[in-house]
Amino acid sequence: MNIDNTESSSQTQTQHDQHGRWPQAESVEDFRHNLAEVHARIATACQRAGRDPASVRLLPVSKTKPETSLRLAYAAGCRLLGENKPQEAYRKWEAMQDLGDLQWSVIGHLQTNKAKLVARFASEFQALDSLRVAEALERRLQAEGRALDVFVQVNTSGEASKYGLNPDDVPAFLRALPAFSALRVRGLMTLALFSAEAERVRKCFVLLRELRDQLRHDAPHGIDLDELSMGMSGDYEIAIEEGATIVRVGQAIFGARLTPDSYYWPTAPDGEPDQ
Ligand SMILES: *Cc1c(COP(=O)(O)O)cnc(C)c1O
Repeated sequence: MNIDNTESSSQTQTQHDQHGRWPQAESVEDFRHNLAEVHARIATACQRAGRDPASVRLLPVSKTKPETSLRLAYAAGCRLLGENKPQEAYRKWEAMQDLGDLQWSVIGHLQTNKAKLVARFASEFQALDSLRVAEALERRLQAEGRALDVFVQVNTSGEASKYGLNPDDVPAFLRALPAFSALRVRGLMTLALFSAEAERVRKCFVLLRELRDQLRHDAPHGIDLDELSMGMSGDYEIAIEEGATIVRVGQAIFGARLTPDSYYWPTAPDGEPDQ
């Protein structure tokens, strides 16, 4: 063990022990403070990895939070918000039309019958994991005269409950995507294993990065694999060390959620990280 080098990235721990305990952001100042804290941690993680902090985009995730809270985040500078459920996101988008430059990223599983909603308002969709959804989105986007940035979701944890493609199925999936001209493929997305064991979490991020590096060379024309969307409140620093270009952070900015995670992630732990 390298006990002298405490800055070594191999020692970065998860913050999953904070899950369900993050303090609520109740004012613009709270949001500014939390955003500054997350940006500082991003910068430090980048430093450990020898990366430029400008190469990491912070996506604040506002799911379950009320409109008042989202407006405070906007006042603190957020211009793109991540939401897991299309209906919830659509409702918020409708209610906040007055904020003309606020954009929406849908980061949760999509059923084909909700493609119409996403095609109407989202600027980004991070959970593409089937050709049926790609087809439904393409049809609706063509009808709206819009295009959408998309990320292919990969299941890197091997958990049967998690959404996303099996890594082995990603190459063929990518080869089918150029047929959908309204979908602009930007990269890969994953949710790591939810565990307090940093090394098991890190493995998921490494897998996504290696898959991306492997596929990048002969990606079909028009398929861009620059982005790696990985890492959330409890593990974004580890994700950055492994190459994340987008981190999706909810609770560390907005505060803990009251709605159990199982509502968004089937069989997700409700507050207690596993050991
Ligand atoms: C909720 C959510 C996040 C953010 O999780 P936090 O613990 O709030 O940071 C990230 N990615 C996805 C897909 C989510 O649904």
